[in-house]
Amino acid sequence: MAVSKSVIVFHTLLPEFEYFRPKTLQEALELLDKYQGDAKVMAGGTGLLFFMRLRWMQAKYVIDIKGIKELHTIKYEEGKGLTVGATVTLSELFENEIVKNKYPILWDGIRQLADMHIRNRATLVGNLCFGMPSADTAPALLTLKAKLNVVSVNGTRTIELKDFFKGEGKTALKPNEMVTSVFIPEPPEGAKGRYLKFVRTADDGPIMGIAVLVANPRDPAKRIVRIAFSNVVSTPIIIDEVEELFKQDKPLGELAEEAIKLIKSKVTPKSDVRGSRELREHLMEYGTRYLLKTLIEG
Ligand SMILES: Cc1cc2nc3c(=O)[nH]c(=O)nc-3n(C[C@H](O)[C@H](O)[C@H](O)COP(=O)(O)OP(=O)(O)OC[C@H]3O[C@@H](n4cnc5c(N)ncnc54)[C@H](O)[C@@H]3O)c2cc1C
Repeated sequence: MAVSKSVIVFHTLLPEFEYFRPKTLQEALELLDKYQGDAKVMAGGTGLLFFMRLRWMQAKYVIDIKGIKELHTIKYEEGKGLTVGATVTLSELFENEIVKNKYPILWDGIRQLADMHIRNRATLVGNLCFGMPSADTAPALLTLKAKLNVVSVNGTRTIELKDFFKGEGKTALKPNEMVTSVFIPEPPEGAKGRYLKFVRTADDGPIMGIAVLVANPRDPAKRIVRIAFSNVVSTPIIIDEVEELFKQDKPLGELAEEAIKLIKSKVTPKSDVRGSRELREHLMEYGTRYLLKTLIEG
């Protein structure tokens, strides 16, 4: 019988792999370097093991980093920003007062990611490294200009989040590199933000999401507006030109409509099982207008 390509085959068992649980970062990096190409880092495992079971991801060697103490850190420095280590779970961030009060746009993204059971294991860094266009924390982190701290046996480097996503399931990481933490700068003074996720039913996958960050809307000299999307194209994206557009000294309603026009000229949404290009185009317009109005007037 011919099987349609759209049918998902659920395997009961994971394929065989060798499991490592290093206690130090150096040990993990040496394993990753030795088995590069055949090895995958595992944080919460919610994405990795699910995809390995579906045979959408392969790994002969799985390097579980949860036993590495130095990766389990949340550090906030007033005026500088927040550093979140690679094994910090989304539940830990959801319950963190700094995240809730200083980074409400990120908190809103975390709140809408899966459910409590997944968030109890899943990590913020894993959500980004999974490289999915639908990553619910990515739009907020793009508006906050987050950076990833990356390490390998050869040294360290920093990657701006906006340069990190390279296509569905693809990131800028080399096979022997891993992310140790994400740095989220202090938000602009007076910033407010929200993430709006569109789904058909509560247990279905997402159609798309929008994050809008607004600071000082009434003062053109200090006004900052940033807009980013999930699951509209093959990666999470921020539309950089929006920030410049909102610097103009014009009525805010007029600028909102100009921003929507600009976004539509820059982004051609994809069509897939979750929604057509036309639906996504409509939600982009509706959601952007709604969030701008709410954040500017609220
Ligand atoms: C039922 C279900 C519902 C879900 N719902 C959502 C949802 O609503 N929204 C959403 O955005 N996601 C969702 N996901 C996907 C997944 O749970 C999240 O992306 C999660 O944040 C992944 O984090 P993790 O720590 O479990 O990553 P893992 O599964 O451990 O890893 C994911 C990928 O990132 C790589 N990786 C992890 N950490 C590192 C690191 N430090 N350095 C380099 N590479 C690394 C792994 O090798 C793997 O390729 C869902 C998954 C399931 C199973």
